[in-house]
Amino acid sequence: MDIFEKCFNYTAAKEAMKAGIYPYFQVLESGQDTEVIINGKRTIMIGSNNYLGLTSDPRVIEAAKRALEKYGTGCSGSRFLNGTLDLHVELEKRLASFLNKEAALTFSTGFQTNLGIISAIAGRNDYIICDRANHASIIDGCRLSFAKVLKFEHNDMEDLERILKKIPDKHGKLIVVDGVFSMEGDICNLPEIVRLAKKYGARIMVDDAHGLGTLGKHGRGTAEYFGLEDQVDIIMGTFSKSLASLGGYIAASEDVIHYVKHVSRPFIFSASISPANAAAALEALNILQSEPERVVRVQENARYMREGLKKLGIPIRHTETPIIPVMTWEDRRTFVIAKQLLDEGVYVNPVVSPAVKPGQCLLRTSYTATHTKEQLDYALNAFEKVFCQTG
Ligand code: PMP
Repeated sequence: MDIFEKCFNYTAAKEAMKAGIYPYFQVLESGQDTEVIINGKRTIMIGSNNYLGLTSDPRVIEAAKRALEKYGTGCSGSRFLNGTLDLHVELEKRLASFLNKEAALTFSTGFQTNLGIISAIAGRNDYIICDRANHASIIDGCRLSFAKVLKFEHNDMEDLERILKKIPDKHGKLIVVDGVFSMEGDICNLPEIVRLAKKYGARIMVDDAHGLGTLGKHGRGTAEYFGLEDQVDIIMGTFSKSLASLGGYIAASEDVIHYVKHVSRPFIFSASISPANAAAALEALNILQSEPERVVRVQENARYMREGLKKLGIPIRHTETPIIPVMTWEDRRTFVIAKQLLDEGVYVNPVVSPAVKPGQCLLRTSYTATHTKEQLDYALNAFEKVFCQTG
């Protein structure tokens, strides 16, 4: 049996390619901004996680350049050994203080952060309790741990309680949820999760990749939004979204961070964040703190689009975040509409199974603080053309 057999027989993407509707690996010929260049054409970008619009901010670019000049292009080693810069330590201190936690720890990517924290914290005698819609990196973090993994139906608190009830007291329990679900755009029911965690003696970890910079008065995310910052044991996040860089972090108690630092294999056996990335994230965090109006603007832009899309009768899922899923249900329809929108000069992210349940395909649209009304109106016109005129 040739181990490559599965590759030879893999036809899914090939069919879409033949039909000219394959939507992935789209090449951008410009930086990531509210407008990008695709196939030589100006295109409105409503598929990015650049929520605060900081990837092109001159201050962030300048900070990255300065770090590049001072520290060079890479750290050539792990944080554990030769790869810790004063910049990493500063970034961790600032994150901990911003998120009102005792300490923080940075990882090379957000994905790796989830692998690193979950596999370090949850051992053989423990249970991880996950929302079914959690991000792939959480699921893989669970696989990497030796713990037992139980899943509850998406945002279904009765199901969560049913599961918690079954776990004997002698086992450690970690409830892990996305703060903002990356594809669905909805927010976890944190108040109820906190209540149940207390009742059943579980710890809570929130992956706030999409909550930081978009939720809460100061952009501190899901826990701030609910006024429950002191009730979440581990806040995880990434630098690849609001903080305009690459990398990830956790913020937690000193004890947890100290432990993870010394046992987490994805942390110890991987090179640290590049100087330019660390400096960019730090400067983006400065801007988030000094310009909280950006958080208001990203929410306003999302509200504008939500109302606009609704008025046009476009089937959207109601959310309170900058992620607005437009329902397309079937794979092929999702690809066709994404292509039609792109032809009209609007980029959206087509999402099909396994990222969502089969039959629940969607176009993931997402908005930033720096989209102008003209750009948003342009996108609405394109939606109207594609959905209403071509049916
Ligand atoms: N968690 C969530 C909820 C995410 O959406 C993502 C990225 N889409 C990650 C973790 C991984 O982050 P990164 O892309 O920064 O590695």
